[in-house]
Amino acid sequence: IVSIRDVRKSFGALEVLKGVSLDVRKGEVVCVIGPSGSGKSTLIRCVNALVGVDSGSITVAGREVNDPKLDKLALRRTVGMVFQQYNLFPHRTALQNVMMAPVQVLKQDKREVEARARALLAKVRLSGKENAYPGELSGGQQQRVAIARSLAMRPEVMLFDEVTAALDPETVKEVLVTIRELAEEGMTCILVTHEMGFARSLADHIYFTDRGVIVEHGPPAEFFAAPKDERTRAFLGQIL
Ligand code: ATP
Ligand code: MG
Repeated sequence: IVSIRDVRKSFGALEVLKGVSLDVRKGEVVCVIGPSGSGKSTLIRCVNALVGVDSGSITVAGREVNDPKLDKLALRRTVGMVFQQYNLFPHRTALQNVMMAPVQVLKQDKREVEARARALLAKVRLSGKENAYPGELSGGQQQRVAIARSLAMRPEVMLFDEVTAALDPETVKEVLVTIRELAEEGMTCILVTHEMGFARSLADHIYFTDRGVIVEHGPPAEFFAAPKDERTRAFLGQIL
């Protein structure tokens, strides 16, 4: 459903992506790992056109993301994204945050959206917190509101960029449980993560990036048991 082919991207003189290719089939969970600054965030931002590529091709559900005629709004409905910073609207309740885009952007019926938003909050295990403001929620709870808000647009693919990196250790787990449940229901997911145990147990495929290239990739069993490249071994040695 996502196909990235030989993508290059520079910021000024700095080439951040040096010919990256990556494929994700429908229902698959792909994890991207690698050192800081290796281009992971830039890569997944290219998938929903938050970052434009210099060359190469990215298709989502068969459509070229960098086609200037492509409706960016439609693309971002298809591809949901959750960041490390949840960016909830502080003066709106959890429920209002989840309802906002479908009501204001998609002009959907408010009552239907509300019913669905309540169901989504229940799904991320936040029943009872509908009327709480972000400031009244823990980091992990806010991040789950952000996930529910993304799901409200009925995406076909979800991008997660280090969504647990800013959380307390106790709340990391509840967010990972939510992502696991989504994946188990068949949501296609691309995750940038430093949670190696999670990547190992959940991913169908792991990609390791370093300095703008995919150094190696493979199913987690192979990848973690027998990393082939020296850079991968060094990275895993540091982190595990
Ligand atoms: P981290 O693990 O720290 O999140 P990353 O692998 O996600 O790192 P990127 O955020 O993709 O790395 O950044 C790759 C490089 O591109 C970095 O050197 C960064 O400074 C640079 N970069 C990213 N975005 C921009 C931008 N909008 N303008 C200029 N440089 C950028
Ligand atoms: Mg990043």
